[in-house]
Amino acid sequence: MSDMSNHAERWIDLRSDTVTQPGAEMRAAMQAAPVGDDVYGDDPTVNRLQEVTAEMFGYEAGLFAPSGTQSNLIALLVHCARGDEYLVGQEAHTYKYEGGGAAVLGSIQPQPIANQPDGSIALADIDAYIKPDDMHFARTRLLALENTIGGRVLGAHYMAAATQLAHARGLATHLDGARICNAAVKQGISLRAATAGFDTLSVCLSKGLGAPVGSVLCGPKAFIEQGKRWRKMLGGGMRQAGILAAAGLYALEHNIERLADDHTNAANLSRGLAQIAQLKVATPQTNIFYIEVPPASVDALRATLVRERIRATVGQHTRLVTHIKVTAADVARIIDVFTTFFKDAS
Ligand SMILES: *Cc1c(COP(=O)(O)O)cnc(C)c1O
Repeated sequence: MSDMSNHAERWIDLRSDTVTQPGAEMRAAMQAAPVGDDVYGDDPTVNRLQEVTAEMFGYEAGLFAPSGTQSNLIALLVHCARGDEYLVGQEAHTYKYEGGGAAVLGSIQPQPIANQPDGSIALADIDAYIKPDDMHFARTRLLALENTIGGRVLGAHYMAAATQLAHARGLATHLDGARICNAAVKQGISLRAATAGFDTLSVCLSKGLGAPVGSVLCGPKAFIEQGKRWRKMLGGGMRQAGILAAAGLYALEHNIERLADDHTNAANLSRGLAQIAQLKVATPQTNIFYIEVPPASVDALRATLVRERIRATVGQHTRLVTHIKVTAADVARIIDVFTTFFKDAS
């Protein structure tokens, strides 16, 4: 299939920042990449991606995985043994959206905890859910947090307090940083500052950074060595994966600073939609926000958007996501389409 963005009648796709297709320059980088068999450790481009990512985010070593789900699962499997548990938000990807992998494949018990409206887990809750050493209880080993979560940024002060609390109680800390670059850019802090306090990090290359595939797990050398065994067992040992890693390297080099544009586009989109009386519109912190659509309008709105070549997962609770393929002109057009639709509907 041709690149939709080059198509004369292109679609605007607001479903997720995973929908981006690599542009010509990223594809050129992929084509030019020297490769080898990464299961033998021979792929120079994978090795470079792992080193560069670890260095950028402040870790000793990195491990390229085919997805963020696998990267997080590897982290949970290394941090926790059978009968251990991890503390995690009810809304967290590592609890809610990864098929129960930690329990199914690792015999690891999640201890889900309510997320606060800002996406954080209350420190008092973290403290209260850490179980004493007692044969009745699973062994609490790990605090897993997510940043951004539902597009919300957990600030550096909160992250410092939460990780200090976890460490003081003998827990390890893992950050599902699928969109950690969005969080760092939004706060105007370095990537290293955004990951401070976390023993391990999973970062997605295939979200806002715009690479087609892949995540990198970062952590101490010995941790990553153990992770490599799990990755192989999970089927994530890839061969000439440098073709994919090259896209990741290109993304890290070119697509981090520009995330600010996605945040601006989301803010402008939300401001425009907020003018529509029938909608309840959240103010985005990054590139993801939610609108409430009147139930009676859902089906007609869905049909209108399809006719206008705008893809969105329309429901009462509709998530809108901006990314590298959504332009300022697109934002203006989306606002027009919505405004006309609701004018006609009233
Ligand atoms: C997308 C995502 C992941 C990983 O998803 P994959 O589709 O498996 O790459 C993990 N955590 C969060 C918060 C995500 O948004």
